[in-house]
Amino acid sequence: MRSSPPLVDTHGRVHRDLRISLTDRCSLRCTYCMPEQGNEWLARTSILSLDEIERVAAVAAAAGITTFRLTGGEPLLRSDIVEVVRRLARLEGPDGPVQIAMTTNGIRLPEFLPGLVAAGLSRLNISIDTLDRERFRELTRRDRLGDVLEGIAAAAASPLRPLKLNAVAMRDVNVCELVDLVAFAVGHGAQMRFIEQMPLDAGHTWSRERMVTREEILDALSARWELTPVPGRGGAPAETWLLDGGPHSVGVIASVTAPFCGTCDRLRLTADGQLRNCLFSTTEFDLLPILRAGHAPGVEEQHLDAMLRGCIIRKLPGHAIDDPSFLQPARGMNAIGG
Ligand code: SAM
Ligand code: SF4
Repeated sequence: MRSSPPLVDTHGRVHRDLRISLTDRCSLRCTYCMPEQGNEWLARTSILSLDEIERVAAVAAAAGITTFRLTGGEPLLRSDIVEVVRRLARLEGPDGPVQIAMTTNGIRLPEFLPGLVAAGLSRLNISIDTLDRERFRELTRRDRLGDVLEGIAAAAASPLRPLKLNAVAMRDVNVCELVDLVAFAVGHGAQMRFIEQMPLDAGHTWSRERMVTREEILDALSARWELTPVPGRGGAPAETWLLDGGPHSVGVIASVTAPFCGTCDRLRLTADGQLRNCLFSTTEFDLLPILRAGHAPGVEEQHLDAMLRGCIIRKLPGHAIDDPSFLQPARGMNAIGG
């Protein structure tokens, strides 16, 4: 496909990262993300097919998207996950081949990993909030810590690097485990990253006061390691610190207390074909009518490209979580794609 101009918004931010949610379904029910019961699932008929995902991704790659991050819900619940990776990994943009990354809870990773690596997966982020089985069961409402640990062991033994482990820091839940989680990650050749909890839970129970902040996380880690900031963050969500001078490091994603909207280069596609220019956006751009209209390929590409640009051009400068007028998006994180 012919290259098109880069995706630049009205604040000069060039977009290079498209997060593709493959499903809103999940094998866990993390309290900060999904309700235990009564979740309103996306209609199965609206879920993008492999071909539809590939057609959108091809237009995005031509417009300078260099990284596709597959997420969900749980991306490994898609039966065609290996084929999704294979199809996207062969796309090329103006700067060459694209990179395919994935964020997963790790369950069933041992089974899929060889196929994913062979299909062209470049990087993995695995979520693990606690190393304690009972705490894991309460937090995710599923007794599957063992499966997640097996997934992390398989990833550590794979050639995929850098390997990152993600935890949402939560008061009265895992704040006592921050040091242990970092040591666990180091032991697996991975980087631990702590995420400030965001108001994206389906139950709308988030509160600013209860949130564990970047400062608290750094205080807890400083008691164990000397932390040296790593410069050159670019558009990355995580700030990084070397542990005792390196080579190991830890990351903090402080979306709430130290937002990084000014350098955001990310765009999202939900499993049901809605483009979103921000996690917290309350506006979506529906690609389904374009993808299902039966256009000739060239015409469809033009429509998809116009939609990408329309979405980008309406991107606000920041998410304004701290603003009294802030409205939590109607979708939970599992239906947006983290
Ligand atoms: N199921 C996969 C997983 O858990 O890694 C991928 C989807 S999940 C929505 C992606 C990331 O979003 C995970 O690292 C998860 O911890 C994070 N996340 C979910 N809800 C969040 C919230 N309310 N605040 C901060 N991070 C959240
Ligand atoms: Fe599932 Fe990931 Fe949400 Fe947990 S954070 S419920 S693993 S989608």
